[in-house]
This record gives sequence, C-alpha cells and structure tokens, in this order.
Amino acid sequence: MPLRRSLALALLTFIPACSTPSPAPAPDAKPAVTALAPAPADRKYLLERVADASVVQLYADGFSSLPLKQKALIWHLYQAAIAGRDIFIDQKHKDSLEMRGIIERIVASPQGVDAATLAEVQRYTKLFWLNNGPYNNLTARKFVLTCTPDAFAAAAKTAGADAAAIARLQPMFFDPSVDPIVTNKSPGAGKDILRSSANNLYSGVAMADLQGFEEKYGLNSRLVKQNGKLVEEVYRIDGRYGKYITEVVKHLEAAKAFAEPPMARALDALVAFYRSGEVKDRQAYDIAWVQDKESPVDTINGFIEVYLDPRGIKGGWEGLVFYVNQEKTARIKIIATNAQWFEDHMPWDVKYRKASVQGIVANAIDVVVETGDSGPVTPVGINLPNDQAIREKFGSKSVALSNVTDAYARSTPGNMRSEFAWSPEEAERAAKHAEEAGNLTTDMHEVIGHASGQQAPGKANPQALIKEEFSALEEGRADLVGLYFIADPKMVELGIIPATDHDGMVRAEYESYTRNALVQLRRMREGTQIEEDHMRNRQMIVRWLMANTKAVEERTRDGKTYLVMVDPKLFRDGVGQLLAEVQRIKSEGDYAAAKKLFSTYGVHFDPKLRDQIVSRVDTLNLPSYSGFVMPKLTPVTTNGQLTDVTISYPMDLTQQMLEYSGVRK
Ligand SMILES: [Zn+2]
Repeated sequence: MPLRRSLALALLTFIPACSTPSPAPAPDAKPAVTALAPAPADRKYLLERVADASVVQLYADGFSSLPLKQKALIWHLYQAAIAGRDIFIDQKHKDSLEMRGIIERIVASPQGVDAATLAEVQRYTKLFWLNNGPYNNLTARKFVLTCTPDAFAAAAKTAGADAAAIARLQPMFFDPSVDPIVTNKSPGAGKDILRSSANNLYSGVAMADLQGFEEKYGLNSRLVKQNGKLVEEVYRIDGRYGKYITEVVKHLEAAKAFAEPPMARALDALVAFYRSGEVKDRQAYDIAWVQDKESPVDTINGFIEVYLDPRGIKGGWEGLVFYVNQEKTARIKIIATNAQWFEDHMPWDVKYRKASVQGIVANAIDVVVETGDSGPVTPVGINLPNDQAIREKFGSKSVALSNVTDAYARSTPGNMRSEFAWSPEEAERAAKHAEEAGNLTTDMHEVIGHASGQQAPGKANPQALIKEEFSALEEGRADLVGLYFIADPKMVELGIIPATDHDGMVRAEYESYTRNALVQLRRMREGTQIEEDHMRNRQMIVRWLMANTKAVEERTRDGKTYLVMVDPKLFRDGVGQLLAEVQRIKSEGDYAAAKKLFSTYGVHFDPKLRDQIVSRVDTLNLPSYSGFVMPKLTPVTTNGQLTDVTISYPMDLTQQMLEYSGVRK
C-alpha cells in the first residue's frame, strides 16, 4: 500500500532550498535523524506550474557512488520500469494510448500549429502525462481541452495525425460528460460502481454479473462481458499486454546477472508469474520478494495497487527502482526493530494483536525511477505485499521515499504558513516541527501501521469482505497508528524524538493533520464527494474526532473557516478509541460498519466550504499536487562491455515524456 503525500504539511512549512535545518537535540538525547541533506544552493526543484499541478525535478544523489554491479542492476531494472509504463495508461481508459499518440505528435512537431492552440494542447498534454491519462489522479474526474474541436483537428492534421481517429475521439478530448469519472466507488443509489467507472479494467461488466462468477485472475486480468459471458483477459506474456510484458521480462532477465542470490530468486519468481499469470506464481513471487531482506537495490514491478478498481481487486501496473539510503535508514530501522513492542501496545482488543510480529523490513530509500501507477505522481511511503495472508505469515517490506520527501519540501512555496493556522504559535510550530513529524508518522504508517494486527478466525481476507471501503479503512488504520504512537513516551525512550521537542512535535503533527481536512478540499474543485482513499480516510478521522471528542474546534475569523486542534491529550485518546474500532472492523470484516463510518465522516463535504478553501488557495497560488521528472540513466560501454552508468537530470517534463514514448530520442 502506498502512502500519498498530505501536502498540507509541506505547504505550511518553510524550508529555504539553501539551508539545512536541523533540530537542536537535548544534550542527553540522540538527535532525531531527519534533517534534510544539503543540496547544491543553485539546484532547481520546482520546474513549472501546469494548472493546479507543480512539476518537480527528483534527484538521486547517492547513485553515482554505487558500485558498478549495483549501477548495472539498476540500469536493467530501470529499463524494465519504462518498458511497462504504457500498460497503466491503457488500464486507465481504453482510448488513452491512442489519445496520447495524437497529442504527442502535435507537441513533438508543432511547426505550423497556431500559437494559442499549441499552448492549450501543451497544457492538456502535460496534465495527461502527469496523470497517466485524461483523469485527475485526486478527483478521478476527466479534464478536457478548452480550444475548439476545429482548431484541435487542424493542429492534429498539421502534425500528421489520422483524421478519422481525431473525429472518433473528439468526445473524449472535449466532452466532460462522456466517461466522466475513472473510478467511482459512490455513484449514488441504484447505480453500478463498475458501469459508473470509466477505467479499462472492465468492459461491459456490472457488479450483478459477478454473482456466482468464479474469478480466477482477480488481480491480473481485464474482465470482459462477451456474448453474455464473462471472460478474463489475463495479463501475461502470451495474454493481454503481452507485447509490453515481453519487454519487461527481457530487462528483468538481464538484471538477474547483477543481483545477489535472494534478489535473483525474486526476479525469477516474478518472471515466472509474468509468464503464467497464475495465482500460485504470484504468491511465490510475493514470498520471494519479501524474503529478500538485505538487497541494497530493489524493485517493485507488476500489478500491485488496487485503487483504480472501484472493487479494489484489480492491480494497476507500476514500476519503481530504488536503492537504500544508508544515512537516512537509522530511524525507520529503530521502529522496525521494536515492532513487537508497538504491536503489544496497540489500543485494540488483545485478540486482534499479533503474538509474534513477522520480520518487518524497513528502509529509507532513494528512487531512481517511478512509472505507471507510481509516477510521475508518487507516493512517499510503500508497504508490500498487499496479500494479507502472506503478510501474516512472511512479514512485509516498507520503504520511505526520502528523495521524494526532500523534493516535496524543497519545491514547496514558502509564503503561506499562516493562511490555515489559527494562531502565529501554530504557524511557528508547523515551521519548526511539522515536516519532521510528518516524516516520522509516515514511517510509522508503513512500518507498524499496515504491518500490524490480525484477522479474526474465518475472516482471513479483509479486502474481499470490506470491498470498496477496504482501502480507505486500511489507510485510516495506518494513519491512526502513527498518530497514536507519536505521542507515546516510547518515542523519547527510543531516541526517536528528543525529550525537549516531544510536546512540540505532537502538537505540530495533530495540528497539521487537523488543518489538512480543510486544506485537502482544494483538490476537489468539482463535485461534492471525496473519491481518493487517502483523502477519504483523513477526512473521516478528523470529522470523527470532531463529532466524538472535544479535541478539535471549528472557528471562523474574517469570514474564513479554521479547524483548530485544542487538546492533544483528548486528540490522542480519541485516536486510540477510533483505532480500536477500525481494527475491529478490519479483523471482523464488518462491511456495514465500514460503509457507515465513511459515508458519515469521510466521503461528503460542504461545497460552500470547499469554495472558500479553493479561493484562499488560489489567492496564494498553491498547487494541488506535484508530479516528478525522474532522473535519467545512460549506459557507458567500452568494447561492448558496460563500464559505467551515469545519472543526469532532464529538468523538462516534455522531453522526458517524449523520450519514454519513443517519440523523441
Ligand atoms: Zn498506506
């Protein structure tokens, strides 16, 4: 499961790109291990703004000093990540790749296209690249071209695109009411979640069709209704996406020669799964991957996360390649080493605690490339595998994406600290502690959050039981674990937080989490409900606390609304109480309770309040989300032998995307 960034933290924290803030540790405490690494003073992070998105360059500083064997391994895995990229774009919508072909032609060969049309096509294309298709990754809604269809058709013709295709795809490019939502888990009474969702994981299928149907390839197939019968188009080397999977496999096999034995076994298992598509091979791969604990280099490659599917079953393809950031791994290791202590102190019923926590592996990492479901918009933390049975038996691996977190912090405009904070003290606390507190709760979310708890007997598969509410529930559970333990004296005892900073860190985290319930509404510029699971869970937690405790107050000043965290003790007590209930719901597979929790607190919001937030944010010109330009690797060969791999930073989204598509070398 990935953790998406809550931008509220970064937005309220001012970190000039040229300084290195480090917390002043108490003389007898170990320093917290989270200061930003120094970056060259003239280095550019924020590259451009496109509509409400910002485009940011990602750096991987440690790459150059890796040994050649690891560089070579990363080089092949990097090619595998790029080779599978188009799978996810096709999964988003059946027309996405064809649409991309047209707009990329115009952007790559703009000669003769009129300037205004070209500027609009460039804007649209950049959004398309950032979101891997014509849907906003946060709102799930379609965005469209705002030039005239005639001007677009003329531009496409000038660039040599096929006129018939342009005419056929016109509604997708221009009409927001055609296939309006990519994933719609709450379409309203009497409406079907599959038919209301425009993604390409299903074709012609409604939920009712699934009754009595035995799905053999839940995670890795497209489900199609043909002549009244359901057919699973399996994603495998001789099946759907075979063309891409063949390339991915070729690069994975080349990578194997440079991998240490445990990783080579995992790569073998992954290739076997790509060949057969069978569940038992996916399980074998998950086990091999989680048992590879020591590799300094690792990859996530395949059909992994299930957020695109309103049922939460089918995996979106993604490719990530990364290496361990040794300097930053210290804190996350302390948390992992003490996982059993945290499990024993979870505020939920003893029967849902694990008696023995299985090997949790946790690392701070730097990513070299992220594609598909994980890029250009990236998570900040990941915990896998998602298969609950394998997690309980074999453990899980967690990564904190340090270079992504750094790039977020350094690319964030710093002049809006005070907008959503009720008092100057709150804004100051945010500046001093919120970034660090946010990184710490991210680590706990992944390492002891997702990895914790156990199912009741006979309820082994919570995904299947809790259905479309599961992802948001699980993300809420992991967030609550972080919020609960950041206030525990154990944080000081373990040397994770200096004693003198503990109170400030806790307040800063609770305040920023609370503010986020307001600030995140800026991302939902249309509609009146929240679709994205992490946003749902964060809304749910704050609104639940408001309804059930006195920890948070809503206040108004000068016509502006604020959410104010007024009592950290009540806040933590409430978090503990809610966490106990959320764990019970998961362990028992209580679908009705999950649905009630989210429909009461997590899904709906007041559109007037949203309008107010949007107008405050627009005055400050804040982005709603960031997409990253990835580092670029180039092999160096001498007499056909690989002698080095160099890293460079393209600083240009258009150039990188056209290179990935093969439109430009
Ligand atoms: Zn998560």
